[in-house]
Amino acid sequence: MSIEKYIRDIQDFPKPGIVFKDITPLLANPEASKVFLELLINGLPDVKIDKVVGVESRGFFFATLLAYKLDAGFVPVRKPKKLPYTTISATYDLEYGQDTLEIHTDAIQKGDKVLIHDDVLATGGTAKAVCELVEKLGGEIVQCNFLMELTFLNGREKIKQYDIFSPLKY
Ligand code: IMP
Repeated sequence: MSIEKYIRDIQDFPKPGIVFKDITPLLANPEASKVFLELLINGLPDVKIDKVVGVESRGFFFATLLAYKLDAGFVPVRKPKKLPYTTISATYDLEYGQDTLEIHTDAIQKGDKVLIHDDVLATGGTAKAVCELVEKLGGEIVQCNFLMELTFLNGREKIKQYDIFSPLKY
């Protein structure tokens, strides 16, 4: 199956000049979603993972499936003021603008082995901020895992000290 055809290019979204990779056709197709999940599972590290961290919002979909597969807990990283309990936050530069992400202070225990999942690795600013949050709480990052990577934006450079996995590269 050619999985690329389930990822749609949207020109000038959310701003002029940006070509947005839209995964909603993939999510709407059960076979394509299963194929993609298997690709992610094939790249999982051979280490017992305690927590899978998913990044709001498109990171949530596959992060919860990976957590189920790994018998690990799921931890949401969310935009400001969405999480109800005490949080810590990190601010970072995005491909289009600046943003802040938050995590619950009790979401990760010291020494937890953590897998981070998001849909797209673009400039790497988001992933770097999530890594900072996880490490502030004492988590040990085992892998940064993405559905796809926009290689021309060189996001890998920002998180090069970690194991990075993505089945699809543009
Ligand atoms: P980065 O911080 O520049 O690496 O951007 C990654 C974040 O922005 C991820 O949370 C993605 O969900 C989102 N993002 C950036 N580019 C795209 C895209 O083309 N499609 C979907 N999400 C994107």
